[in-house]
Amino acid sequence: MDASDRDGRDGNDDGDDRNDRGGSDEGDDGLGFETRAVRAGEESASGPGGSGDIVTPIHLASTFVADRPGDPTHGYKYSRLGNPTRDALETRLAALDDARHASAFASGTAATTCFCLSVLEPGDRVLAFDSLYGGTRVLFDDLLARFGIEIEYVDATDPEIVASAMTPETALLWMETPTNPLLKLCDIEALAGLADEGDATLAVDNTFASPYFQQPLSFGADAVVYSTTKFLNGHSDSVGGAVVTNDDALAEAVAFVQEYGVGAMLAPFDCYLALRGAKTLPVRMRQHEHNALEIASYLREEKRVTEVYYPGLETHPQHDLAARQMEGFGGVVSFEIDGGTEEARTLLGELELFDVAVSLGSVESLIEHPVSMSASYVSEAERQAAGITESLIRVPVGIERTEDLIADLKRAFEAL
Ligand SMILES: *Cc1c(COP(=O)(O)O)cnc(C)c1O
Repeated sequence: MDASDRDGRDGNDDGDDRNDRGGSDEGDDGLGFETRAVRAGEESASGPGGSGDIVTPIHLASTFVADRPGDPTHGYKYSRLGNPTRDALETRLAALDDARHASAFASGTAATTCFCLSVLEPGDRVLAFDSLYGGTRVLFDDLLARFGIEIEYVDATDPEIVASAMTPETALLWMETPTNPLLKLCDIEALAGLADEGDATLAVDNTFASPYFQQPLSFGADAVVYSTTKFLNGHSDSVGGAVVTNDDALAEAVAFVQEYGVGAMLAPFDCYLALRGAKTLPVRMRQHEHNALEIASYLREEKRVTEVYYPGLETHPQHDLAARQMEGFGGVVSFEIDGGTEEARTLLGELELFDVAVSLGSVESLIEHPVSMSASYVSEAERQAAGITESLIRVPVGIERTEDLIADLKRAFEAL
């Protein structure tokens, strides 16, 4: 495919038709995504009584003065329950999804756990995509299952399969799109319809797309969950997570579990880092996508590559859904090589620019072999069922110069 006809969501763009496809470039406040990414949440420091800081200060205090007992004079009482730097980040995160509420967590995993604890009860069933982030699968199977919650994994690429797996006990549809590491998609709008009919909650882990490329709430999802560790912070220097929703009761339940149950809030310094990182989310995402498309196109031509997974390729089985549901195709490409673990390790060892590491969504390009690394704690049978083979390699593409990245890959393939 021609990569140039897909330059992704671009709020400052002229004729790119992707802008007209019903995304939410303009929020309820009439401001574009780029403006909200830079400015939302920064008001408090420069507002009345503030010090005039252009960026939100890092408020390290664990407790706050009350002029009269029982009266939180300055709006804050104790940092687990509320902190000005965290408030600023939560305001920003809500604005990016055009939502009313966001809670910032100590990790994406903490966000997932607290979300599940706030919506599930013993006897409930969870229907989850069979192509999920491995850590979420461990949390479902080894933790939730102990509390009398039944988990079933289904091929959610087909909404019919999800529909036929739903029962009256199904309380939560837990989805991810695109998924890790095979970049499968599910149709958020179709699943939101099923959740409504079945009186279930639909949560979408939107970590891979980021709010810049996909807005699940606008398709009817009840909540969006993030690992801010990835694209939202974007600089490999902070672990964090978030739950975002328009549902007041759900937001209150999540805040209760976070503040009074698990206590898994994001620390002020990490809130500051995520606030800073999120300012450049739009420009980073555009370059991630540009590089990912170029790399995916190059890999398709590479003789030692047998399969390329990237929703931006017309050969991706769900390319049409991606074009409809996403404002851009994201920055992660996976591929299969002609060979197994040994060849994969040789290839990774030859690369100079791509760092061999897990995680994704940061400015620097990474590469990993899921069987040896990110999926190594998943049993072999589960890996096979999920299609994670020895020949699979995942590339979270960074924002470096495209030509440098492709030259590095070419050099490494020649050495194979
Ligand atoms: C990394 C990741 C998580 C877990 O987030 P942590 O911040 O590592 O706890 C969840 N979902 C997806 C899709 C991820 O990539």
